[in-house]
Amino acid sequence: MDAGLKRDLEAKVYAGERLSREDGIALYASDDLTWLGRLAHHRRTELNGDRVMFNVNRHLNLTNVCSASCAYCSFQRKPGEKDAYTMRIEEAVSKAKEMEDEQLTELHIVNGLHPSLPWRYYPKVLRELKAALPNVKLKCFTATEVQWFEKISGRSADEILDELMDAGLESLTGGGAEIFDWEVRQHIVDHDCHWEDWSRIHRLAHRKGMKTPATMLYGHIEEPRHRVDHVLRLRELQDETGGFAVFIPLRYQHDFHDSADGKIRNRIQERTTMAAPAESLKTFAVSRLLLDNVPHVKCFWVMHGLSVAQLSLNFGADDLDGSVVEYKITHDADSYGTPHTLHRDDLLHLIWDAGFQPVERNTRYEVVREYEKPVGLAERRSEPQKVWA
Ligand code: SF4
Repeated sequence: MDAGLKRDLEAKVYAGERLSREDGIALYASDDLTWLGRLAHHRRTELNGDRVMFNVNRHLNLTNVCSASCAYCSFQRKPGEKDAYTMRIEEAVSKAKEMEDEQLTELHIVNGLHPSLPWRYYPKVLRELKAALPNVKLKCFTATEVQWFEKISGRSADEILDELMDAGLESLTGGGAEIFDWEVRQHIVDHDCHWEDWSRIHRLAHRKGMKTPATMLYGHIEEPRHRVDHVLRLRELQDETGGFAVFIPLRYQHDFHDSADGKIRNRIQERTTMAAPAESLKTFAVSRLLLDNVPHVKCFWVMHGLSVAQLSLNFGADDLDGSVVEYKITHDADSYGTPHTLHRDDLLHLIWDAGFQPVERNTRYEVVREYEKPVGLAERRSEPQKVWA
């Protein structure tokens, strides 16, 4: 990058000026990763100090049966396929209760677009989960699922959200966003929920008082300009509603192993590579710098591995999701040996070892507990150090 442009961008960041589309594209064109990290870390520190938030959650996928066949998805199964499943309500409750002893604070539930499950199943599942675990917040369903519920129920999203909230819904999840630009989206997404519906449903959720997350699936066939466009659409919507609590860049994954039935479902992996760690760190940094109105940037460690997750905390991220348990959507495509679960203690040490102060939060990003500040590496060099893979 031209030295003059670099100085201009740096001056804008340190003056707290809003960055433009061209600035975003220029930042992606820079290979000076330490410089990008320094800028993003400056912004992250202004917003969140040296704190790293985390939560103790469990992911549940009620069904992997899906009417769509998105090109990047290794999770979906068609009805009758060998490893297709749909949980009975009691099964979902019993899986959720397995983590009761860990003082679980959130259930994160996303699912396939099941062609024949009736609408009433969904509020019923939430009611039963809430009755079994009254202190646990329910973060459930992507905007894509809500649009699917409109189709299968004949109700409006307004009515659907009211009914789900009445059954205990605290927040939507941020998925279904992928990349909003149609140039890319038409090649990877196989359902009808695009920017217009995705933003309509989140806008509605914000009006009802929800704080929702927003995601971006990167590192496949998109180019940096598509990532910038994606983030700027979210920034504009955030200017309007203020309802996004966090932005989550999700790294696209190849389907390295055959699934139980021997099929590889990911249809774009021959056209693309996955984002390398440096590209991921760059994406965290540029997103943090462009999204000046969203308070948090999250690293979903399951998709990055733990060492990149630690590094991301110096590249704009200030939030780690979470204790997780059984994240099927990525783990159906993952052969990195990333664990399924981190317990509260693991998360605390992961954050301390990266040099930050852990803060446990709830679904609304309210503080549950602040932990001690980290002890510097230099002071504990004689202790055996854990290796985070
Ligand atoms: S990404 Fe979601 S909607 Fe698309 S095929 Fe997979 S489960 Fe279905």
